Amino acid sequence: MNLIGLNTSGLEAHLKEHGEAAFRGRQIADWIYKKGAADFSEMKNLSGALREKLGTADVLDFPRISKRTVAGDGTTKLLLEMNDGERIETVRLPYPDRLSVCVSSQAGCAMACQFCATGLSGFRRNLSTAEIIAQILLVKREGAQKETPTHVVFMGMGEPLLNTDNVFRTVELMHDEMGIPMRHITVSTVGILNGIEKLAQKKWQLTLAVSLHAPEDALRHELIPTSRKTSVSDIIAAAKSYVGQTGRRVTFEYVVLGGVNDSPKMARELARLCRGWPCHVNLIPWNDVPGAAFAGVKPEALREFRAILERAGISVTQRVQRGADVAAACGQLRALNEPIVREGIIPLSVV
Ligand code: SF4
Repeated sequence: MNLIGLNTSGLEAHLKEHGEAAFRGRQIADWIYKKGAADFSEMKNLSGALREKLGTADVLDFPRISKRTVAGDGTTKLLLEMNDGERIETVRLPYPDRLSVCVSSQAGCAMACQFCATGLSGFRRNLSTAEIIAQILLVKREGAQKETPTHVVFMGMGEPLLNTDNVFRTVELMHDEMGIPMRHITVSTVGILNGIEKLAQKKWQLTLAVSLHAPEDALRHELIPTSRKTSVSDIIAAAKSYVGQTGRRVTFEYVVLGGVNDSPKMARELARLCRGWPCHVNLIPWNDVPGAAFAGVKPEALREFRAILERAGISVTQRVQRGADVAAACGQLRALNEPIVREGIIPLSVV
């Protein structure tokens, strides 16, 4: 049995089933989640006989790191291969005061956002709880001191709120077993309404980030074709309900695409939607994907867009591009290693 993904009580029960004392389960949880062990042989406070028994009956099953790319700013992108050959990506982002991880929740993604390399290559499958938490554990092992990440964002491949059971169990493991504060966890969604409601009911103090990308339906549906059944007003209503139930401010992610959604008119409309309730806008200047159909936003257009929001009293930040030289935006590493052949899109593997 794969012990990655079991919590302390699951491990206690598992050990008891095998005739061992429950506290052995707690020790193993400590080795996996706190000390970052990747093999039973590292678990020095277990007897040699128990380590051998575990090694025969159980496994610590980690995805294989098939490629590691390190950018000049220290951002490390891991391309991971699952047992069935599916590939996903995880990004380690070290900052002076924290260590962030961007995790994937699905192999591929069904949402088909037009500016996203993952979206353009389609959906493969949901990741299990073990496969999601393993990404954080692998990132922990990347550090010289096996530092536990302080912040986790579900902004890698996939739509987390279409894999709620496994994502929610992973959030519990991160919080309960690894000690990552809820307020340091961000779940990002393209706007899955029933998923937002399920998350709201948990009353967790994490951050919900909703990818808006356009303040009006026609353009939003063009950018995210799978969102056609959801209107911008549905999303705003779901976000306000989330705020009401959790007391947490919602973040709207807005990828700023040159000449597409960066006009002053769009900024004014976005400001109108956000005014007067606890939300925040995070502008993400378009990170060029070679061969993609969108252009980067011009600095003066971005400045004006931001200024309009700020003048309207909206809380705004702008994402600093990290690891651009390793293609650290959503879905890009896998795309660079796997040709996408799609009408009108240049295969990304040519880069
Ligand atoms: S941006 Fe996120 S939700 Fe959209 S296609 Fe890419 S991975 Fe999926």
